[in-house]
Amino acid sequence: MNWNKDAVKEALKGIRISGSDVDIIQAKAIQNIICFGSDVHIDLIINNPTLQAKKKVETEIKEALKRVNAETTLKVKFIVDKPKVEKVTPIQGNALPGVKNIIAVSSGKGGVGKSTVSSNLAVALVKQGYKVGLVDADIFGPSIPIMFDVEGERPVAIEVDGKSKIKPIESYGVNILSIGFFTDPSQAVVWRGPMATKALNQMLHEAHWGELDYLLIDLPPGTSDIHLSLVQSVPVDGSIIVSTPQKIAIADAKRGAAMFQMDTIKVPILGFVENMAYFTPAELPDNKYYIFGMSGIKNLAEDLALPFLGEIPLVQSVREASDAGRPAVLQNDTPISKAYLDLATKMVEQANARKQNMDATEIVKITNMDGCS
Ligand code: ADP
Repeated sequence: MNWNKDAVKEALKGIRISGSDVDIIQAKAIQNIICFGSDVHIDLIINNPTLQAKKKVETEIKEALKRVNAETTLKVKFIVDKPKVEKVTPIQGNALPGVKNIIAVSSGKGGVGKSTVSSNLAVALVKQGYKVGLVDADIFGPSIPIMFDVEGERPVAIEVDGKSKIKPIESYGVNILSIGFFTDPSQAVVWRGPMATKALNQMLHEAHWGELDYLLIDLPPGTSDIHLSLVQSVPVDGSIIVSTPQKIAIADAKRGAAMFQMDTIKVPILGFVENMAYFTPAELPDNKYYIFGMSGIKNLAEDLALPFLGEIPLVQSVREASDAGRPAVLQNDTPISKAYLDLATKMVEQANARKQNMDATEIVKITNMDGCS
């Protein structure tokens, strides 16, 4: 059985921490739960930091989980409740201290699966042992909080070197900040111009990202002001362009690539991803139906002499997994999880090659994007 957060919470009902007369769920002592198959990681807030108190509650948690799934492996991180303000050692550096690769994930058109690819790619990289952050800058439709089951959560402030910083929310090992955390989901907020730019800058520069191998930025579709704000506020090491192989999507993907290649922007393109490359029904796993055409994005990459990072099929479980807040790549040994892991491997190869073969990207100093709308 694969764990999910709700099942873990259900199993832990009734467990108490010494000194409390309600259980750990009612006491809101669980700060975070991360599940990978039968592995469960719990961040637990405690008041009594003695070894004995920690051991007692950890044993009770382990027993409760094993009663539901005997295969469970458990890691508990204890967070001592005092002092309230967490102190973190600051990381020295320039643009985004401690972040080795900033990678923009973009698409020409909306609805082609850019956010789905971003979220699965981020988790795939974590599975491969990398430290990963994800910024949901899709101002017009932030969906990452739903895909990571952290929709109702709000980031907290921590103190770093005497300054307050936003602490990204962690889910499935990915550090996440989304414009969705800062807005009321029931309100129709149109994030445009200076407001959107401010929000993006806040997520990039006022957050404590710590040490990261990859910071993925899920951009809005098209070539918007947000793209310009991004390249003006941090040096973007590379970009990934996601598209379906449909003719009209290809034209937009091409325009997206042209924007990154503009002389004034010059963000290297790490490669294209062909999403919804073919449809495979669950009951006929060997059948492939090329609903949006065959290899359109692969061919575009070839024409432009740019890398092709891989194809992701259109399968119902990807959509279901996204809606359920559990990216599909978390499934063990399925063709779809393999597709995302292969994509991550290819992206890492391209990011490494880019670092070796090209100069570092510079922050863009322009004020308009003529010619790429
Ligand atoms: P975008 O970020 O480009 O607007 P999303 O990632 O939100 O697109 O995806 C749009 C819809 O398509 C979502 O409902 C998502 O679950 C679904 N989707 C994306 N990729 C796939 C896929 N490979 N198979 C099935 N459904 C997918």
